[in-house]
Amino acid sequence: LADLGSRLRGALSSVESASDDEINSMVKDVCTALLESDVNIKLVVRLRDNIKAKIKTELSPEETTANKRKKLQKIIFDELVALVDSHEEPPKPKKLSTSTKVINGKKKKVAKTNSHVIMFVGLQGAGKTTSCTKLAVYYKKRGFKVGLVCADTFRAGAFDQLKQNAIKASIPYYGSYLEQDPVKIAYEGVTKFKSEKFDIIIVDTSGRHRQEQQLFDEMVQIGEMVQPTQTIMVMDGSIGQAAESQAKAFKESANFGSIILTKMDGHAKGGGAISAVAATKTPIVFIGTGEHVGDLEIFKPTTFISKLLGIGDIQSLIEHVQGLNLQNDENHKQTMENIKEGKFTLKDFQNQMNNFLKMGPLTNIASMIPGLSNIMSQVGEEETSKKIKNMVYIMDSMTAQELESDGRIFVDQPSRILRVAKGSGCSAVEIEMVLQQHRLMSTMAKSAVAAGGAPGAPGANP
Ligand code: GDP
Ligand code: MG
Repeated sequence: LADLGSRLRGALSSVESASDDEINSMVKDVCTALLESDVNIKLVVRLRDNIKAKIKTELSPEETTANKRKKLQKIIFDELVALVDSHEEPPKPKKLSTSTKVINGKKKKVAKTNSHVIMFVGLQGAGKTTSCTKLAVYYKKRGFKVGLVCADTFRAGAFDQLKQNAIKASIPYYGSYLEQDPVKIAYEGVTKFKSEKFDIIIVDTSGRHRQEQQLFDEMVQIGEMVQPTQTIMVMDGSIGQAAESQAKAFKESANFGSIILTKMDGHAKGGGAISAVAATKTPIVFIGTGEHVGDLEIFKPTTFISKLLGIGDIQSLIEHVQGLNLQNDENHKQTMENIKEGKFTLKDFQNQMNNFLKMGPLTNIASMIPGLSNIMSQVGEEETSKKIKNMVYIMDSMTAQELESDGRIFVDQPSRILRVAKGSGCSAVEIEMVLQQHRLMSTMAKSAVAAGGAPGAPGANP
């Protein structure tokens, strides 16, 4: 969807004087870009009408150009979000809460809550098995105890595929080469992991080439046996607008609550799938963006549109970092406190960069930060990781006083830049870049607080 993003950004930045002509042609460009990404024409027409109506009521001729541009950006942003928003909240897994009981004179841990059981459904080749492992790894990274169950006995080699993925990612798995009944395997696997107090149990099921009764019957039976907390339909995102009818057909048989759209890497039709699915009022929870285990991105309408428009999204950044089990990290606590107050020191910046390095696929994270997403798209994962490491080294050469500051100290006393450059073995230009990047993020932190923490508020774009 990189193409759609760059076209939308181009349309928005083409507004200079905010004259009526300019605004009209911008709206037209936005609509053309959406149509060419295969978004349903009815939805695009509605979006256009909403934008025009809002422009009429919210933009007055007396306003400054800067104000007009800000408001325009907000209008477009909100309407794009509305386009991909199902307005439904998917269930969120929680860690199992346990208590200690004395049984036969021995202390034993007993579960007070139930494991979160996720059942995957979808056609063959949609990406279920791949996404199962991706999701397991995603939750494992966030401190959950996750197990995988292979209930696909239809396709030869299905268990091997899941097993290999699971072993590679060090995720406990359950399956059988001999048992032919998927319902039985699913039940046994879930029961086993439940008794071992797993927080999350993911059940992979078999698909069929087409929507067949046999497939739907099997899904219903497995569902009855394992009583999933959440059923996720996995769908190939490259099918474009056809996503809507497929989601509807599955919904009638297997009442799923969330969707993962896969193969969203490099498909112009992705916009079609996203808007089609949003129209079925089912939340897309993740999108798959590649064949590797890390290629899974959270899908949230505001985050998605922020990324698409190249606007950083401080809210998801905070959530992302919060999800990483850093509660006991003192540096991290201080940074979170500061961000909540709209403060963001260089030390906070350094902490964040260090966290990014711990977090794995940088593509996901970089796109939440304005500026970084550009670097990322130009040079790729490895190079970006190097750049971030470099930033951390540069900040290592700063004094405590400098790190605790908002960075102005370098503007007031430029000789400090030269000292840091010397200490870190980098050029003064590189130090300036770090300071500039910090200013960008600091502005985001401030405007996020000013906007009441509104996620991805376009005002946050400096
Ligand atoms: P299943 O039959 O639904 O279990 O589908 P699989 O998980 O076996 O995936 C089918 C194919 O799609 C495999 O070759 C995967 O590597 C590929 N695949 C799955 N998700 C993605 C994705 O997000 N992007 C890309 N490019 N390929 C994917
Ligand atoms: Mg499979």
